[in-house]
Amino acid sequence: MVIDAPGTLTPPAGGTAAVQQPVVVEARGITRAFDGRGVLHGIDLTVRRGEFVALLGRSGSGKSTLLRILAKLDTEATGTIKVPAQPGVAFQDSRLLPWARVLPNVLLGLRDGDARERARTLLDDVGLGDRARAWPRQLSGGEQQRVALARALAGAPELLLMDEPFGALDALTRIRMHRLLRELVSRYSPSVVLVTHDVDEAVLLADRVLVLTDGRLSLDEQIDLPVVGRRSHPGFVALRSRLL
Ligand code: ADP
Ligand code: MG
Repeated sequence: MVIDAPGTLTPPAGGTAAVQQPVVVEARGITRAFDGRGVLHGIDLTVRRGEFVALLGRSGSGKSTLLRILAKLDTEATGTIKVPAQPGVAFQDSRLLPWARVLPNVLLGLRDGDARERARTLLDDVGLGDRARAWPRQLSGGEQQRVALARALAGAPELLLMDEPFGALDALTRIRMHRLLRELVSRYSPSVVLVTHDVDEAVLLADRVLVLTDGRLSLDEQIDLPVVGRRSHPGFVALRSRLL
């Protein structure tokens, strides 16, 4: 995390100005092959609390494979990995249950007493408080993704993993979803790993951008740009061209 308000923080006694947040994701030497063909070749990745990491890469570079491993949906990889027990996950398709209404979809898998209350709050947060009883098919693609985001956050996860969550949406809806995601992340403060092939999306949303090339991390770039007005900042174009 970069704190860019000089003079507002006193460095802790004895030292360093930047406070290191605890590690949330620690992956070392992640290697994965399918039918003898290597797809990931020794990935090392550390994500700290509150960090928003974008994982960029061309189609076929292994992004989804890595995300599935982090989500423990793929347990065949080798290497060591430490991730929180129940991360929130979201994919390009919302994967809502078609036979369940919106609220039960958000509640999926949650049993504790205040889960229902939390699910309702999240539906309000994503602007769908009045659609709790709708069926998924009655919602637009963008609305279905908003439900998917609410569901991913319903368990108050320490880690949010997303694989091209806005990839199937039109450009205008995508812009609204970027704003919504930023609001949700600042409200609930999960660490985030966002897989995307969209350079603008990565630079716009993340604190750090990683580039995956042929199964290896080829670039790891901290983003030191203001959150507000980032797209119009001259550094945006510079960083963008470095990533392309
Ligand atoms: P990306 O998400 O970056 O587009 P993927 O992780 O989906 O890339 O895929 C990386 C490579 O691994 C591709 O060549 C893909 O065909 C292969 N692959 C992914 N999943 C499987 C699978 N279950 N079986 C065989 N090959 C796979
Ligand atoms: Mg993919």
